[in-house]
Amino acid sequence: DRPATRKPLMSHTPAAVGMHLSAVDTPALLVDLDAFEANLRQMQQAIAGFGAQLRAHAKTHKCPTIALAQIAHGAVGVCCQKVSEAEALVDGGVEDVLISNEVVGPTKVARVAALAQRSKLSICVDDEQQITALADAMSAAGNGTLDVLVEIDVGAKRCGVQPGAEAVRLAELISVQPQLRFAGLQAYHGSAQHVRSLDERRAVIAKAAELAAFTRDCLQAAGIECPKITGAGTGTFLFEAGSSVYNELQAGSYVFMDADYGANEWSDSSFPRFKNSLFVWTTVMSRVPGVRAVVDAGLKSSSVDSGLPLLAEQTSAVYSNISDEHGVIQLNGARDYELGEKLKLIPGHCDPTVNMHDQLICYRGDRVEAIWPVTARGCAW
Ligand code: PLP
Ligand code: MN
Repeated sequence: DRPATRKPLMSHTPAAVGMHLSAVDTPALLVDLDAFEANLRQMQQAIAGFGAQLRAHAKTHKCPTIALAQIAHGAVGVCCQKVSEAEALVDGGVEDVLISNEVVGPTKVARVAALAQRSKLSICVDDEQQITALADAMSAAGNGTLDVLVEIDVGAKRCGVQPGAEAVRLAELISVQPQLRFAGLQAYHGSAQHVRSLDERRAVIAKAAELAAFTRDCLQAAGIECPKITGAGTGTFLFEAGSSVYNELQAGSYVFMDADYGANEWSDSSFPRFKNSLFVWTTVMSRVPGVRAVVDAGLKSSSVDSGLPLLAEQTSAVYSNISDEHGVIQLNGARDYELGEKLKLIPGHCDPTVNMHDQLICYRGDRVEAIWPVTARGCAW
């Protein structure tokens, strides 16, 4: 018997393996497997030869199947942001997970300690109280150890202590806890990722790497070894990789890409762009010939925090207005769409868009090849 709150997923099947893409119902989230697999390979090729390994960010896809594919391609493990995401990933067979974030509150900290008993878990801190809470929870949970990284603010002004002395103080506090191990520094610069100019992104990461190296040297002077310096995203990972400071790279969006990353400057010679592999599949449900078409994918199918979705096809038509269940495409002289015609949209921002969908409909050519559940969908706690 199904609990009353469970969605009636089985009463309607928007897609099935083997189905022609044109028969997949909308709105749905599609993954182009050729592009997705090319992105997995391209990332490993791009970082080969640098002294840094990929620890792919699973916040992008929230899907253990993809996490395991990233590891099979060479990633050392994955990151996530939330305890519930970490639980879903470990339950899905991923052994090595970094919660690249601070976790506060007794319920969550107890879950971290419980999860550390059955996985290779690591976590970030930027306050002494977090360290004490983790240490207490670990001793209550059993005899395992938890790897703890000190997060430093390398310029993004979000989480993290100031580089230098404050980070050393926290590392010392971690080191004296018998069930905690100081694992290194989290030095992620989030706001650098969508700085449009490649040169500006390079400059911001040069400064971040300098602050991370300075903190590593301060640790060394205090007699504390710093095994790991981790950070980076899709917009900058080659700069961290080339810094000889970072040894782990946390890029996530590279598997899917989105319209916001598409607007960045890339360079075929020094920083190649990844392919769009994620699309919102939508149907033309109403139209005014010669003027506009209305599609069935709106705010509940594609996030707009980083801009409206784009039409995947090259056209003068523009997706220009969005509401809960509708998207308005102004034709701007482009051809009329047929009623019932299905279109691919490139979402503005991949991560929150994925979090709106129960499953990823994976296709190759024009056939559905697999359907992967977004297992950690809604895992925000
Ligand atoms: N690392 C951390 C801590 C993040 O918060 C994020 C994304 O927000 C990433 C890595 C991955 O960045 P991206 O998806 O832009 O590659
Ligand atoms: Mn993002």
